[in-house]
Amino acid sequence: MTTSTDLRLYALDGGLVRATGTDAAEFTDDGAYDGRTFELPVPWFLVRHPGGALVWDTGMSRTRTDLGDWATAGPSLINQLAALGMAPGDIRYVSLSHGHWDHSGNAGLFAGATWIVNPAERAVMFDDESRATAAMDDYGALERAETHLISGDHDVFGDGSVVIAQAPGHTVGHTVLLLRLPVTGPVVLSGDLWHIVESRTHRRGPTFNIDKAQTLASMDRVEALVASTRARVIVQHDPADYAALRGLSAGLR
Ligand SMILES: [Zn+2]
Repeated sequence: MTTSTDLRLYALDGGLVRATGTDAAEFTDDGAYDGRTFELPVPWFLVRHPGGALVWDTGMSRTRTDLGDWATAGPSLINQLAALGMAPGDIRYVSLSHGHWDHSGNAGLFAGATWIVNPAERAVMFDDESRATAAMDDYGALERAETHLISGDHDVFGDGSVVIAQAPGHTVGHTVLLLRLPVTGPVVLSGDLWHIVESRTHRRGPTFNIDKAQTLASMDRVEALVASTRARVIVQHDPADYAALRGLSAGLR
């Protein structure tokens, strides 16, 4: 299915992670990344639809001081939106692939939007353990946001052009985003289902996933979605996938 909806995807800068040693090795549970070094972009995304704007992921914190040299925050999200003629108050929906710190870092900026989230993911983000972490300062305001809980797949604008799909296993309520762009065609933003394209090729998941069997089932589910829609997959932390989008100042149509 294609769509004539005027839909655009912008990939924005949410920081950079440099992973070496055990940090790099942990991106797979089969030892294949031992001795490797990764420089992984941490993008966040803006989706513009005639029915409103959606922010997908919010990068890493710009205010935390405990992340160390290996995590470098990106430029101001507010400035990046301003360059596109928008402000946080213009965002209608915010959704995170999952609640990890590099995807929820500035989410509090969007507490005026409607937060679309899996209920189990939301519960973990606001459990006692999470409340004790510094990350809470970055996304805690979402607790009071208007919230739309989704346990299944969710068609955000009701026209099939922006669909949030459940893909748990990395976290309890991890999701991916399917877009049907008018020129490019279907695109899947795969969250952290895979961290780099090489992981997709070899069906590798990190050691810190909450459920390996569920992760593999989600990989199968998303691969079936990709096959049936012939979607282009964007592995969010993959340097080449991000670089291909980063320079498109008018967005990907
Ligand atoms: Zn991540």
